[in-house]
Amino acid sequence: MAKPVCYSTKAFSTASAATPLNAATIERRQPTASDVKIQILYCGVCHSDLHFARNEWGFTQYPAVPGHEIVGRVTAVGSGVTKFKVGDTVGVGCLVDSCRTCPDCRSGLEQFCTDMVMTYGSMDKHLNAPTLGGYAQSIVVTEDFVLRIPANLDLAAVAPLLCAGITTYSPLRRWKVGPGQKVGIVGLGGLGHMAVKFARAFGAHVVLFTTSPGKAADAKRLGAQEVVVSTDEAQMAAQANSFDFILDAVSATHDINAYFNLLKRDGNLVLVGAPEKPLPVAAFPLIFRRRSFSGSLIGGLPETQEMLDFCGAHNITSDIEMIRMDQINAAYERMLKSDVKYRFVIDMATLA
Ligand code: NAP
Ligand code: ZN
Ligand code: ZN
Repeated sequence: MAKPVCYSTKAFSTASAATPLNAATIERRQPTASDVKIQILYCGVCHSDLHFARNEWGFTQYPAVPGHEIVGRVTAVGSGVTKFKVGDTVGVGCLVDSCRTCPDCRSGLEQFCTDMVMTYGSMDKHLNAPTLGGYAQSIVVTEDFVLRIPANLDLAAVAPLLCAGITTYSPLRRWKVGPGQKVGIVGLGGLGHMAVKFARAFGAHVVLFTTSPGKAADAKRLGAQEVVVSTDEAQMAAQANSFDFILDAVSATHDINAYFNLLKRDGNLVLVGAPEKPLPVAAFPLIFRRRSFSGSLIGGLPETQEMLDFCGAHNITSDIEMIRMDQINAAYERMLKSDVKYRFVIDMATLA
């Protein structure tokens, strides 16, 4: 396939696992017939960006541009685009394409397509080079992977919904979290704070587990009815055998077995956190009381739109701290110290 016509756009990229992110110029394709060109206004900072920039998952190709919580304005559309027009406010999450024909794609579960193209870290079908993410002034995406943003929501605070939002909304919906259930959320970071908001909005009794006692008041304000400091053995023991469902959104290795022990018979722990190193699983906490251990990956395009519309109807957004693009390396260091309240969002105007 011939290389498409490209244009240059400013971005922040990293050259290796050990180097900081720096200003760079990257190439994007000019919009083809089905593409939407988006001026990026805000981009959320996901812990996955950090895992990826530092090659903690082992598949990063450099130079790498992270960023998959993108909101912006449409500045051009291809001749065949029907869903969007210039001036629309739109979002792009972790996916920018997939095969469109496999059973997963036909079920609206594009995240499980073996040919799915991630916003960063995949092979770009057009450019035959790694995809480059949203720490940039603009991006070009096929219209089927572009999302509508409810007009009533603050745009910067919407950005984290594109990953942290859907990644927590999807498992809470799939396992039908709702009234009458006791639900645990582990870790009050970007994902965790959205999980608390959604679980509460769905009517569950929400318990937040944290290693940061100083986050207790915020957890209650965000919707948790109880807060457990997970390093306190007595507080953990008091919760034994009582949960229907637990969502684990921790970014680092931790004792997951301690949480299995908190589930009722047939309770389920869903892992969305993606630590660099394996989590050792003990047999007894699972086999006693027939507990389950599951995983979940972001969400497909239809469910991501459903989540955004739900947020519009219920006035739900992320609690954010806005940063300049050149503060990204310091923001990563703070993220590693669990010092985020509760999502950094880059004001992309600062990249100009
Ligand atoms: P984050 O904002 O950095 O939050 C992670 C939270 O985990 C921290 O705020 C902290 O909460 C807790 N934590 C950190 N280190 C810990 C440790 N050593 N022991 C116990 N708790 C610890 O990260 P995020 O952006 O929410 O992402 C969380 C994880 O989900 C990352 O691994 C990310 O790659 C992954 N992720 C997965 C998907 C998916 O589709 N499955 C999508 C997006 C992200 P407390 O201070 O409350 O303890
Ligand atoms: Zn993410
Ligand atoms: Zn597919």
